[in-house]
Amino acid sequence: MAEQPERAAPPALRRATQAVHGGVARHAARNAARQDAPLITPVYQTATYTFADTADVRAFSAARRQGATDREQYARFGNPTVKAVERKLAVLEGGDEAILYSSGMAAITSVLLSSLPTGAHIIMTDDCYRHTREFCLTFLRRLGIETTVAPMGDYDAIEAAIRPRKTRFILSESPTNPFLRVADLERLADIGRRRGVRTLIDSTFATPVNQRPLEWGIDLVVHSATKYLGGHNDLLAGVVVGRGAFMAALREARVVLGSVADPHNAYLLERGLKTLALRVRQQNATAQAVAEYLDAHPKVARVWYPGLTSHPDHAVARAQMEGFGGVVSFEVAGTLEATSRFIDALRIPYIASSLGGVESLIEQSALLAYHDKSPEERAALGIKDSLVRFAVGIEDAQDLLDDLEQALRVV
Ligand code: PLP
Repeated sequence: MAEQPERAAPPALRRATQAVHGGVARHAARNAARQDAPLITPVYQTATYTFADTADVRAFSAARRQGATDREQYARFGNPTVKAVERKLAVLEGGDEAILYSSGMAAITSVLLSSLPTGAHIIMTDDCYRHTREFCLTFLRRLGIETTVAPMGDYDAIEAAIRPRKTRFILSESPTNPFLRVADLERLADIGRRRGVRTLIDSTFATPVNQRPLEWGIDLVVHSATKYLGGHNDLLAGVVVGRGAFMAALREARVVLGSVADPHNAYLLERGLKTLALRVRQQNATAQAVAEYLDAHPKVARVWYPGLTSHPDHAVARAQMEGFGGVVSFEVAGTLEATSRFIDALRIPYIASSLGGVESLIEQSALLAYHDKSPEERAALGIKDSLVRFAVGIEDAQDLLDDLEQALRVV
């Protein structure tokens, strides 16, 4: 039967359609050399790839030098299952290229390790993921790379911290963990462009459904794909999305650093991504309802959620986000023990680190994420004993509200 020509994709697909079809080679393209054409990307579970004979090796090497082949040589250099999910992620974030890593931390550390020389300086905003902070303040410091931590939302302080010819990156999360602060991406991008400093946003809490930093002029986006992108609490992965020559250098560096994603995880990630828009929109709606409910509850002292008008970054969030995400942080009006009683009384959310999956997860930050910090160190970071981070899943919103209602009675 004659092949049908590849159907051209319509130009401006919306996110839910991109999540399903983005980056996928349609039938004719993927079937060029084969009789079969599976709808779903197979898992290329192999450590290496074979050659028919030495002439085949020569032809491959010549084609590779010209950038004229997508054949693979060795799985640390490349894998078709990984490349399939990279193409989808690049489309979703609006970048030229996405590079997949074994974890979110591998993505963040690889960008910095592979591009910063000794003597360089970076700026990071506060209230960021604790291991990112630790990597910058201890590991990079050992390599002679200094980090200035600037207050989130203070753009004058961020610009003033730039050291001419030394500062290479401005690094921020948006929204942040755990206080859901939202960076003004256009403003950060403007500072970076004017001062010749690359901007990098960890957009894990937003997902490309709610926010696309590259569209605001940010240079690089990273995600812990472990969270919403995978969406099922069953994999670890990370991704960097960007444009231009920097991405080619990053891909080369991944070969040396070895922080590649496993093909089976890449398969799970691609599968999870297809429902990204559905899941995230549901989680946005549920988290908004939970935040409003908690905000009005007498046993809750304070709620952080960018969708509430009381949040310090509500206006910025409204301007640049299409949804406010699925995480709500709040302080119970009570002691460490009273907060623990409330968490133990909940029936639906699991007590666990992480967020973004279909199951709701909850944690008392002082006991889990910041367990190794002294009360003074926690206070300096604003982490109270009664702080709770609630990452909503895709359960029925009313069931979660009912569960909160009965559990708050024990406070
Ligand atoms: N960035 C943010 C905002 C996170 O919350 C996390 C993990 O919780 C990471 C990065 C690290 O990701 P991973 O656990 O996939 O290494």
